[in-house]
Amino acid sequence: MTDAASQPPLVLFNSLTRRVEPFVPVHPGEARVYSCGPTVYNYPHIGNMRAYVFADVLGRTLSFRGYRLTHVINITDVGHLTDDADAGEDKMERMAAAQQQSIWDIAEHYKQAYWADVRALNIRQPAQWTVATDYVPQMIDFARGIADKHCYELPSGLYFDVSTVADYGRLARAATDDEGEGRIEAVEGKRHAADFAIWRKTPPGETRQMEWDSPWGRGAPGWHLECSVMSGAVLGFPFDIHTGGIDHREIHHPNEIAQNQAHCCSGDLSDPANSGARLWMHNNFLVERSGKMSKSSGEFLRLQLLIDKGYHPLAYRMMCLQAHYRSELEFSWDGLAAALTRLKRLVMAVSALKAQTAPAQGWGPRFAPYLDRFGAAVSDDLNTPVALTVLEEVAALKKVDPAEKLAAIAAMDAVLGLDLLALDRTALRLRPAAAAISEAAIEDVLARRKEARAAKDFAASDALRDELAAQDVEVMDGDPLGWDWRLG
Ligand code: AMP
Ligand code: ZN
Repeated sequence: MTDAASQPPLVLFNSLTRRVEPFVPVHPGEARVYSCGPTVYNYPHIGNMRAYVFADVLGRTLSFRGYRLTHVINITDVGHLTDDADAGEDKMERMAAAQQQSIWDIAEHYKQAYWADVRALNIRQPAQWTVATDYVPQMIDFARGIADKHCYELPSGLYFDVSTVADYGRLARAATDDEGEGRIEAVEGKRHAADFAIWRKTPPGETRQMEWDSPWGRGAPGWHLECSVMSGAVLGFPFDIHTGGIDHREIHHPNEIAQNQAHCCSGDLSDPANSGARLWMHNNFLVERSGKMSKSSGEFLRLQLLIDKGYHPLAYRMMCLQAHYRSELEFSWDGLAAALTRLKRLVMAVSALKAQTAPAQGWGPRFAPYLDRFGAAVSDDLNTPVALTVLEEVAALKKVDPAEKLAAIAAMDAVLGLDLLALDRTALRLRPAAAAISEAAIEDVLARRKEARAAKDFAASDALRDELAAQDVEVMDGDPLGWDWRLG
């Protein structure tokens, strides 16, 4: 799909201006996007993964609109403190101490776990994963370049003075004075409560597992510095879009913006490009009322937990797509089950088409209005809830060419990423980790039950059904999707 004149403009909500704005690329025909990636000190929870599903849908939409996409996601393996401001310990150091492992091993393990979730959710690989510890020399150079005019040194590190740039905190819409909401003066000697460390010195007499020499002594970079450096190094300032979860709108991104202004673009933020990126986009949170989202709560909501309970990970992607990315999304197991059913319905429709034919090269006039409506929905600040309903309308169309229909569905799925052409019933049926009975044994009991029913021996049929129920198998007679049974 190209950005033809007939299409409505692609508009996106810019957190910096709090307005929906047309997307105008910095480099014609291109889209350069940076997404704040995970801090790899623990497994991601499914809320974290909502941030990457959102960034993926954004990237896929830009591709659908014909832009050549360069997407960068970072991996933070140093510098993120337990508090987003300057308080607390380094999350990585703390986990390494708790698990008695090296930070490098911790980072490797959780990076791989994060990548497994990325693959399971059918999130496309970005052009580049930037790993923070690979960029420390560039971080030191960046800090050196802005230190004289914008920073001051304290015994604990090099601090950025937020009064040295225009419009500090505009992204957060927070007061810029020292009473700014949520700012706690954690470090003695800071000039303003919102000032933040761009280099953290290792305290005398201590050794950190990760530390580097710098003009300000041995130590480690601040978390905000990392993203400024990696985004600018790979994409160049200004680039098009910077993404993250809505929590980053308050501290992390305002601080990145301040550094970017100091580094490259001294003007104020009435021109958003001075922030380093033209658009700042934020996904709202996935929330869970009982507190299972928090990583400090023993069994928190990891994607693997959903899989262990027998939910295909793409049911979670479906759940994300059903909500607009700027709305809060409440997680519930019932909601997840409903999303799985919706996914099953689409997969069954596509499987029936695939049994007849392969996708055509394109589609005729019968499908064009649907593609237009689909394109208009995703171009309207990524309105995936509406786009999904258009896809379902196409899936339900009768008496149309099946090959064209498959091609139209494939084009829509290239944006939504539900992997509809590859999935089938067997792939969707995940075995709960706790299940003791095998699929073959279930099918065997069901075959005997069918015989009993054919012989009108309903007592035997009921007994076989109870036998399955005792092993957590629900028999689904007359399921409209032909699902027959469900485990767990
Ligand atoms: P972190 O690894 O803590 O830096 O978080 C990774 C990403 O997940 C960031 O973009 C966060 O803003 C985002 N995030 C954190 N919690 C949630 C949540 N409950 N729902 C959606 N996004 C979240
Ligand atoms: Zn970041």
